[in-house]
Amino acid sequence: MSELEFEKVMVFFAHPDDGEFMAGGSMVQWAAEGKQIALCVVTNGSHGSNDPDFPREELIAARESEQREAAKITGISDITFLGYEDCHVEDSHELRRDMIREIRRFKPDVVVGPDPTMYFYADMYINHPDHRKVGEALCAAISPGAPTVPMYREELHDKGFEPHHIKAALFGFSPSPNYYVDIEKAIDTKIEAVTVHQSQTPEFGSKLAERMKFMAGVMAEGAHPPLKYAESYRAIYFRERD
Ligand SMILES: [Zn+2]
Repeated sequence: MSELEFEKVMVFFAHPDDGEFMAGGSMVQWAAEGKQIALCVVTNGSHGSNDPDFPREELIAARESEQREAAKITGISDITFLGYEDCHVEDSHELRRDMIREIRRFKPDVVVGPDPTMYFYADMYINHPDHRKVGEALCAAISPGAPTVPMYREELHDKGFEPHHIKAALFGFSPSPNYYVDIEKAIDTKIEAVTVHQSQTPEFGSKLAERMKFMAGVMAEGAHPPLKYAESYRAIYFRERD
């Protein structure tokens, strides 16, 4: 933590619950340190149930309300839902523009989002394409997007969204992490916040806490000094350009 000092963090993610899975412990830790945190949820979560009788609009509403509940637990009140269709995210100019607008509105020091280079995880997981596409669009929104006046100028700069430079970006669930947040004190609150996403997690039951702790232990591998539970990120620093 000493290598990067910041006050404001904005966390971008594809689906309601991704934020807590990826960075929930970090958010609890940062909130406890008095940092200001904002969330930006890209999709409406409409594909998050395989129950053919679960009405689409009810699922979308349930996921938004679960996300608001989870944010209360992690101590965050600034949440934006961009409302893109679940499972249909592309690295589009529309999404880049929306992300730039959010960055210019909140003016974070640090932006957090999914690492777009994570395609496979070990031999057991193909990353959700929405996660990769959100990461790709976010990279473009960070650089050259947020600091560059001509980017979507009529919709952004000319409407009062002034260019903004961030200090660093942290990409979660990264195959090449170089930044670790100690979440030992925050892990129980993280589990509580993830559990709130009841439309997504009922199948895990009591195994959820165990799995989250296992994941946090795996994430901590590679941390120096060693940590028990961590969330790890690929950090990109922009300080030298300021
Ligand atoms: Zn997701």
